[in-house]
Amino acid sequence: MNKHPIVLVLNCGSSSVKYQVLDMSSETTMAKGIVERVGTDEARITHDKTGSPTFRTTKPVATHKIAVGEVLALLTDPEMGVIENVSDITAVGHRVVHAGERFSGSVMINKETKQALKDCIDLAPLHNPANITGIAAAEEAMPGTPQAGTFDTAFHQTMPAHAFLYGLPIGLYKKYGMRRYGFHGTSHYWVSKRAAELLGKPIEATKIITCHLGNGASLTAVAGGKSVDTSMGFTPLEGLVMGTRCGDIDPAIVTFLMRKENLSPEQVDDLLNKESGVRGLAQMSHDMRDVEAAAEQGNAQAQTTLDVYCYKIIKYIGAYAAAMNGVDAIVFTAGVGENSPYVREQVCKSLTYLGVDFDYGANEGLKGKERELTKVGSKVKVYTIPTNEELVIAQDALKQVRANGAGD
Ligand code: ADP
Repeated sequence: MNKHPIVLVLNCGSSSVKYQVLDMSSETTMAKGIVERVGTDEARITHDKTGSPTFRTTKPVATHKIAVGEVLALLTDPEMGVIENVSDITAVGHRVVHAGERFSGSVMINKETKQALKDCIDLAPLHNPANITGIAAAEEAMPGTPQAGTFDTAFHQTMPAHAFLYGLPIGLYKKYGMRRYGFHGTSHYWVSKRAAELLGKPIEATKIITCHLGNGASLTAVAGGKSVDTSMGFTPLEGLVMGTRCGDIDPAIVTFLMRKENLSPEQVDDLLNKESGVRGLAQMSHDMRDVEAAAEQGNAQAQTTLDVYCYKIIKYIGAYAAAMNGVDAIVFTAGVGENSPYVREQVCKSLTYLGVDFDYGANEGLKGKERELTKVGSKVKVYTIPTNEELVIAQDALKQVRANGAGD
């Protein structure tokens, strides 16, 4: 094992490769970036070496393998790079979306785990194939480097049956694995662990509600450090109103739409996943910044969108406080959770019944920083805690590599 372990974290989407290189002796980011529009002649590469100006370029990148090659070339570049050789990378940690019920933790990537990911393609048709392609690309580009995977679903495998089963014929669970899985697991894990530290209690004695509000968004009830319920379900479509996803709706709407608008299953999927949520309601943008700005300028539909968005969060917090028979802390994280004082205020002003004594001054203007947002003596604490999914994936990868004696 290198004295100075370095982990490359890869998050491969259908047309993108996000990366981050971490020095694990200090757990700090050395470089990060993204290759977008993979598969086109005009792929966009953005590379950030910590402490240096951002490098951007556009060039043809036909495949994920070429994208990974571009990333490695940047990382070993004498000027923009952070390592001398690819062999300086101790391990690669992949973010993998869906592991079904197979894994409740991270794993080494090997024949068996790759097959398990293939077996889960039906459950995550948009995400798992891209993750599998990314793993193959990294294996080809770095044949000697151990690879590990961390699953978005793993943290939620502790949910009890009464939380993960739907009111559907039980045969569908047995036949298709039709149940709640939950996503954003690394983020909910990370911020709940940190919240327990801030509470100054052993995590086993805490009840925490974590609100991961990014483009995708989910809430999790974390009791004693374990996920006991979460708002995303069989797929990442269920739950809150998100950037472009509808969240909870009456399931009868699906068949109604198919009949009335003559839509195919794929078209309904697109409508609910890509044209709904904040984008669908506000009809201007999926980005909360644009909608907040428009509402401030008096746009009534933008204001209604914000009202629907926040109301859903308020309802879920109530539900999860009930599910855990109490709550010690509520955490806001991810793009909106970390950066929108407006959303945090709108939500928290409806939580006085729980014992939240919100500190409006502490919240004002706060972006991207860890802070307590409740006054001294507040029965329930509220925190904003920046998430760090890449660090969790890198820690997992290193743990796997060490446990399996690889990378020495
Ligand atoms: P992803 O789910 O893609 O990882 P992020 O967690 O980065 O997303 O969140 C992205 C979203 O965060 C943006 O679409 C935007 O709506 C929101 N966001 C970022 N900055 C702000 C801000 N200052 N105020 C409100 N919303 C913000």
